[in-house]
Amino acid sequence: MFTIDELATIPLFSALGEKELEFLAGAVEDIHLIPGEYVAHEGEGRFLAVVVEGKTELTKLVNGGEQVIGVRRPGDLGGEIPMTLGTPLPASMRAVEPTRVLKLTVEDFHTLAAMAPAVSAAVGAAALERMEMLKSATAQPIEPAMFVIGPRVDPGVHGCDSFLHRNQIRYERLDPDDPGAVTRTGGAAAVAPFPVVVLRDGTQLIAPTMRVVATVAGLTVAPGRSQYDVVIVGGGPAGLTAAVNGASEGLQTALIESFAPGGQAGTSSRIENYTGFPYGVSGDELASRALQQAKRLGAEIVVTRRVESIDPAEMTVTLDGGDVLRTKSIILAMGVEWRRLEVDYIDRFVGSGVYYGAAPSDAGLAQGTDVYLVGAGNSAGQAAIFFSKHARSVTLLVRGESLAESMSHYLIEQIARNANIRVETRSEVVAVHGGDQLEAIEVIDRGTGTTSRRDARVLFVLIGAEAATNWLPSEISLDEHGFVLTGTDATKAGQWTPDREPFALETSAPGIFAVGDIRSGSVKRVAASVGEGGAAIAHVHRYLQLPH
Ligand SMILES: Cc1cc2nc3c(=O)[nH]c(=O)nc-3n(C[C@H](O)[C@H](O)[C@H](O)COP(=O)(O)OP(=O)(O)OC[C@H]3O[C@@H](n4cnc5c(N)ncnc54)[C@H](O)[C@@H]3O)c2cc1C
Repeated sequence: MFTIDELATIPLFSALGEKELEFLAGAVEDIHLIPGEYVAHEGEGRFLAVVVEGKTELTKLVNGGEQVIGVRRPGDLGGEIPMTLGTPLPASMRAVEPTRVLKLTVEDFHTLAAMAPAVSAAVGAAALERMEMLKSATAQPIEPAMFVIGPRVDPGVHGCDSFLHRNQIRYERLDPDDPGAVTRTGGAAAVAPFPVVVLRDGTQLIAPTMRVVATVAGLTVAPGRSQYDVVIVGGGPAGLTAAVNGASEGLQTALIESFAPGGQAGTSSRIENYTGFPYGVSGDELASRALQQAKRLGAEIVVTRRVESIDPAEMTVTLDGGDVLRTKSIILAMGVEWRRLEVDYIDRFVGSGVYYGAAPSDAGLAQGTDVYLVGAGNSAGQAAIFFSKHARSVTLLVRGESLAESMSHYLIEQIARNANIRVETRSEVVAVHGGDQLEAIEVIDRGTGTTSRRDARVLFVLIGAEAATNWLPSEISLDEHGFVLTGTDATKAGQWTPDREPFALETSAPGIFAVGDIRSGSVKRVAASVGEGGAAIAHVHRYLQLPH
C-alpha cells in the first residue's frame, strides 16, 4: 500500500494537496511484480500505471511473436493514451526486473481529475508526446518477415501461403517475374522448384519444408519439455480451447499440430453462428485470437509435427521424427480430413488447380477467374459466397437434387440472391485435364446424361470429411466410421476396465479424452468443439485427482 508521503514523491502527483493524496492512497493498487510478470495485456481495458521502482517494457504481438516497443522506468506512465482517447491498451506491459507499479482504475482517475485537473492535463500531455513518437514509428513501413516467391497456383507456394497466413507470420508473395523478386534473388527464382523463400538477411531457401519455414519464422517446432500434464493432439478450435483452459489452470500443456493452428475453422471464410459475433467472424480471426490467448497463457504450441502413435499404458505420445513425450493425460482433437473426389488423375492437380477445403487466403486464386466448387454443405455454400466477391463467376456443382437437403436456409437464400453464383444440381465432375496445372473439367448432368467440358483453372472440393484415426492404438474404441467413442458409448464398446464410470469425454483408454469433430456423436460445429475443448480440461483435472 502506498503512503501519502510515498505518493507525494511521484512526479505526476507531487503538486497534489493532502485531500487528493488521501483519496489517491485509498484508491491506487500497489503491485509488486517479478521479472516476466505482466501489469496488463494488449487489448485489455483502460487504466493508468506509474512505474515506481524497477523497470517494465511495453510489448506488442507482431508476426505471432512478442516484440518489445518501449521501456518504462520509475516515474514513467503506462496507459496514458487509452486513458486520454478511450481506446483499449495498444500494448502489453511486463516487468523486466523486480518492479513496483501503481495502478489506478479509469473511474478513480476521473474522480482524481475532477479534484485536480492538472493531473488530467499532465496525462493528456504525456499521451500527446507518446503519440508523436508512435507517429514516427508507424511511418516506417513494416518489413515482412519473409518473401515467398513463386506462381500462386504452384502447390508448394499455395501450401506456404496458407501456412504463413494461418501462423500469423507477416510475409509477401511475389510472382517470379516481379521486379521485387528479381532483385531479391538476382533472377534465380524465375525457375522451379518453388517457392523460393527469401529472408530479411537475404538468405534464400529453395522449396523448403514447412518445418524449415516454421523454424526460420521463429515458431515452435520441437517440444520444450519431455513431461507434460496434458498433451493435446490437434490445433483446431477444440484443441486450442483445451490449450487455453489447460494453461490458464496451471497445467503443463503442449499442443501438437501437424500443420498450422486453426484446423478446419481456420479455412472458413465466415462463421455466422458463433456466439458473440453478431456479424460473423472469419475462422482465421477466431483461430488467431485463440492462438494468441493460448500462447499468452503459457501453452506450448508445436507446429508442423504429427502425432504418430500413443501408448496408453505408458502414457506416451510419439511425434514424427521420433520425439517421445511423457504425459499424465491426452486430449485427442484431430478433427476430420476432407473426403477426396474419386476422379482419375485428380491427385496430379491437387494444389495446382484442385483444392480441398477453401480458405480466405485462397481469394487470390479466384481473382477474376471462373471458379468451380464441388459440394452442397454449408462449407461449400460459404465458400461460394466468399469467392463470388473475387471471381468472374462461381459454379456450384451439386450431386443431389437440391441444396435444401444439405445446406442451411440462410446460405441458400444468399446464393439465390447472388447473380455471380450458378448452381448446377445432379452434376458431377467425371474428368480433369491439364498439363502442369488444371485447365479443364468434364461435368456430367445426371438428369440428361450429357457431359460437357468446361475451361477451369480452379476447382474447390468441399464434399465432407472423414476421421483419420487408423493410427490410434486398439485400446481406444472407435465407432463404425472411425470416430472416437467417449463416455458411456466407450464403456459399451467393452474395453473399459477401471472400477469407475468414464468421464463424459473420456475414451475407452483411461486418461485419454476426445473432443470436437473427431468424437463420435459430436455436433460438427465450432461452438460445440470449443465447448468440448473447455470441458475436457475440467475432466482432466478430475482425472488427475483420482488415486493412480
Ligand atoms: C470451410 C468450412 C466452413 C465451416 N463453417 C462453419 C460454420 O460456419 N460454423 C460452424 O460452427 N462450423 C463450421 N465449420 C465446421 C468447423 O470448422 C468444425 O466443426 C471445427 O473446426 C472442428 O474443430 P476441431 O478442433 O474438432 O477439428 P479441426 O478444426 O478439424 O482441427 C483439427 C486439427 O488437428 C490437426 N491434426 C489432425 N491429426 C493430427 C495429428 N495426428 N497430429 C497433429 N495434428 C493433427 C489438423 O491439422 C487440424 O488442424 C466449417 C468447416 C469448414 C471446413
